[in-house]
Amino acid sequence: MIQLYIPLNFFGVIYREIKQNLTDLDKMFTLMDREREVADAPGAEPLVLSHGSSPALRFEDVHFAYEADRPILRGVSFEIPAGKTVAVVGPSGAGKSTLARLLFRFYDIQQGRITIAGQALQSVTQASVREALGIVPQDTVLFNDTVAYNIAYGRPGATQQEVEQAARAAHIHDFIASTPKGYDTMVGERGLKLSGGEKQRVAIARTLLKNPPILVFDEATSALDSANERAIQAELRSVARGKTTLVIAHRLSTVVDAHQILVMDGGRIVERGTHAELLAAGGRYAQMWALQQNSGQKPV
Ligand code: ATP
Repeated sequence: MIQLYIPLNFFGVIYREIKQNLTDLDKMFTLMDREREVADAPGAEPLVLSHGSSPALRFEDVHFAYEADRPILRGVSFEIPAGKTVAVVGPSGAGKSTLARLLFRFYDIQQGRITIAGQALQSVTQASVREALGIVPQDTVLFNDTVAYNIAYGRPGATQQEVEQAARAAHIHDFIASTPKGYDTMVGERGLKLSGGEKQRVAIARTLLKNPPILVFDEATSALDSANERAIQAELRSVARGKTTLVIAHRLSTVVDAHQILVMDGGRIVERGTHAELLAAGGRYAQMWALQQNSGQKPV
């Protein structure tokens, strides 16, 4: 998997960081040349959320294409009730990660509506939307800076104590403490290289520190060893408790506990329900589940 380390002062780093984690890197670099950022509507107001509670999130008949003649989403509708978790599964290219990119409003949709707490994304400021969202991406970008900086990036200005608390909750504190320089250890291309699991834990710690009302987990496609994976899943579950959460899942084991599972194929939701309901229905999900049981934990 490609790892990317970018200097801190790189222009537009925040925007790119999120985007890089949501899309294939090669594709993105080609895109960046010709892409303009989606602009705020004239007079757009910040998203209004009631303090301390997570909002409901809705996709209403969303149609979307990256390129005019190639529809990617063909009328996608679903709701994540406030504080609940919805997981999306389906074959590669079905459009799962596209849902997350649209939620961050990296692109505007061609038809339909995406709303957070009843407010259409296109009518509120992008900055306020991104403020409300936290992502634990497939492949976390680390800066050439200290571990402490990399965690505090979730909330600039966080104290050392808060950083440590987040690291403990993400179960990365002991590892950090075992390095000679602890939280001052440099990571990135000129520093300590972290494993996939360690990087994900840094991302979880960042997200814990940011404490956003809406979470997106874009599950890693590259398999971690199963003990590590189980531990990370448990940590993700505890971060997600009570928050409106969208899980882009590549392994079915991750989605069993979701309040609702959406099965996507060819840009449409072809099945939806809980794990038990979908197994009982004996359709696509049940087939995928049976296949995965037979072949170990193969990505879907
Ligand atoms: P995977 O499980 O492999 O991550 P996915 O279901 O998340 O797949 P998406 O990443 O949403 O799929 O992609 C859906 C389709 O959109 C794919 O055919 C993909 O090639 C195409 N696509 C994704 N990003 C872009 C882009 N930036 N420009 C053009 N097409 C894109």
